[in-house]
Amino acid sequence: MTGLINLMEETVLSKIDELWKNTEYCKCEQCKLDVATYALNRLPAQYVQSMKGKVLYRFESNSIQRDIEVTVAVSKGIEIVGNSPHKNANPNSNNVNSSAAG
Ligand SMILES: [Zn+2]
Repeated sequence: MTGLINLMEETVLSKIDELWKNTEYCKCEQCKLDVATYALNRLPAQYVQSMKGKVLYRFESNSIQRDIEVTVAVSKGIEIVGNSPHKNANPNSNNVNSSAAG
């Protein structure tokens, strides 16, 4: 039985951890998911086949170009989510009157 794994998910999640260290934003599970969702929607999926639980292909971590893309998308997501955490984010609205909440 084979399955599909999106390696980009793991890449994005580890990148969030890496970039979050330098910020003081909320780092709860919900915010992490929000950042990951934002980034993953802007990045190409990296599906690979898995067989017997083993991933056959490893993500090319030395792909500098791809790393830059991931870093940019995750950085943007961290900024957006961090500046307005715990809100029902509407990805299509740019002009949100920010209500000053704690
Ligand atoms: Zn949070």
